[in-house]
Amino acid sequence: MSTKPSSHEFQAETKQVLDIVVNSLYKDKEIFVRELISNASDALEKFRRLQLTEKDVCDDNLDLEITVSTDDSGNTLTIQDFGIGMDKEELVQNLGTIAHSGSKDFMEALKSDGEKNEALIGKFGVGFYSVFMVADHVQVFTRNWKKEGKNHCWESDGSGTYKIDEVDGQRRGAKIVIKLKEDFSEFAKEDRIKEIIKKYSAFVQFPISLNGEKVNTVDAIWMRSKKDITDEEYEEFYKFQSNEYEAPLMRMHFSADAPLEINSILFVPKRNMEKMGLFRNENKVSLHCRKVLIEAEPKGLFPEWLRFLRGVVDSSDIPLNVSRETMQDSELLRKLNQVLTKRFLRFLNEQSRKEEETYLEFWGEFGMLIKEGAATDFTYKDDLAKLLRFESTALDAGKLTGLDDYMDRMASDQDEILFLFGKSRESIEAGPYLEAMKARGIEVLLCTEQVDEYVMQTIREYKEKKIISADSDEVKLDKIDQDDEKETLGKKEIKSLCKWLKESLKEKISDVETGDRLIDSPVCIVGADGMGGASARRVMKMMQGPEGGMPAPSMKLQVNPKNPIIRGLSDLKSKDEPTALLVANQLLDNALASANLLDDPKEMIARSYQALEKITAS
Ligand code: ADP
Ligand code: MG
Repeated sequence: MSTKPSSHEFQAETKQVLDIVVNSLYKDKEIFVRELISNASDALEKFRRLQLTEKDVCDDNLDLEITVSTDDSGNTLTIQDFGIGMDKEELVQNLGTIAHSGSKDFMEALKSDGEKNEALIGKFGVGFYSVFMVADHVQVFTRNWKKEGKNHCWESDGSGTYKIDEVDGQRRGAKIVIKLKEDFSEFAKEDRIKEIIKKYSAFVQFPISLNGEKVNTVDAIWMRSKKDITDEEYEEFYKFQSNEYEAPLMRMHFSADAPLEINSILFVPKRNMEKMGLFRNENKVSLHCRKVLIEAEPKGLFPEWLRFLRGVVDSSDIPLNVSRETMQDSELLRKLNQVLTKRFLRFLNEQSRKEEETYLEFWGEFGMLIKEGAATDFTYKDDLAKLLRFESTALDAGKLTGLDDYMDRMASDQDEILFLFGKSRESIEAGPYLEAMKARGIEVLLCTEQVDEYVMQTIREYKEKKIISADSDEVKLDKIDQDDEKETLGKKEIKSLCKWLKESLKEKISDVETGDRLIDSPVCIVGADGMGGASARRVMKMMQGPEGGMPAPSMKLQVNPKNPIIRGLSDLKSKDEPTALLVANQLLDNALASANLLDDPKEMIARSYQALEKITAS
């Protein structure tokens, strides 16, 4: 019956990937066994799901299992499953091209990240091609699950081309026959393969037999009691489940009976690939019902900002035959999401107390996602706020603290949690805003990432304390005994100077006042509208870009009558107004720059040349 075999070329990217995989990618050649067994397991899983809705399948008497056989003399290894199989089109699609949109990313990632190739391969699904590291040529005999349909054999030596042939006598699923290269005859030996399967495939949820003998115990580790599971087992499970090569950073094994019955193991990876700018994490926590996989990557099981999580969730409350679509917007999924998210956030908080170092490592990698949650998800606002970490004036540079610890240190009459935003700790410390807080012994959290200010403004309140920027005029400061020795302007002089400044700078600011903030610096900007002032303005700028169209909150200029420049200016304005104006404008620009609000320094630079000219000419 056979028709003529058809020849095909691998897609260009595929060729490239093949090249990399074969020549350089894995140090551990044995990993190809794991890749093929995991494909077999995926195919079986897909078939198991399909069977819930499709009754009309071929070979429905076959057990869902994986059989492996070695042929030492023929130097071949065969891996067969009775899974979903492939038709001709699927063969071309799945084995001739890299079906994943990630293929391009993979190439990019390889270029930028030569070190971690091994960790990358699993993520991009180039698993099948790993067989060509050891194979002289490979045949994939396969039959799709449908009753009607033909059997095919796909064959390639992994160079430029492959061919597809019609064949007879296949059963449902796929049988991969690997003719090994001379150098890799070890993989045709039973003992060697047994060792590899035991090592990598301990958690496959289908029986695996090797030359007729069963090698794995199908084990749902998450259903077992915590105390019976070793660290190594958890680690191996994580690596198996999430295609990782590194141990996880944290794990949470959690069981509950109410309100839902849940058994779950959640892992946090060591690294946040998103942070490296490579790609967006996808939540890979699989959903099971009494050990049976419902969905490998269910949408909506966790909030977006927990997309780095790996692991399993098993709940016997899920109906087995639920379809993906109805699952996605089901009440049950929302409930699961809520319970798990709450529990996981509690776990993180516990970790931050018990395992501070690990938590800080977590914060370094995934803090941006916790901030994303805090800024976007009101449901968990307080739990997320609790997890935030910042530098603080109360701690040495490089040390981090959270809102709870801040509150523990705060004086009993302090009503607000204060923060300041700046490009770095140094630039905040050099600015004019800290001095008032320092003089009063008030701790200020130092926010140095773009999003911090937005996050703080969104949270707004923590345990009934307002969170406000220390440059906002909402901050009410007590009078303190300032150095009374210092010379200061008289009441009348102050009034007249403020009036003059307000008039001279009216295009740029709404008011001028003396205040209790400044100790040494001559001037600073404060908000004038109770909206956080400078802080709100920066956030608006961040969101709209410098040309933003919304009216900015108005600002006040605060002046320090004890500062020699201000005292001098009070005189100068009546003696030499043009120079006084120069000084006034320059002071304003300095204040704006200190508040991170100076958009374009060119006017300031031009003006400072004028000033220098005056100085050098006199
Ligand atoms: P991944 O497993 O990440 O999708 P692979 O390169 O390992 O990537 O496999 C590519 C595709 O080939 C799979 O997605 C699947 O569609 C198909 N495939 C591989 N092995 C089998 C198999 N044993 N049965 C059915 N389809 C398979
Ligand atoms: Mg695979």
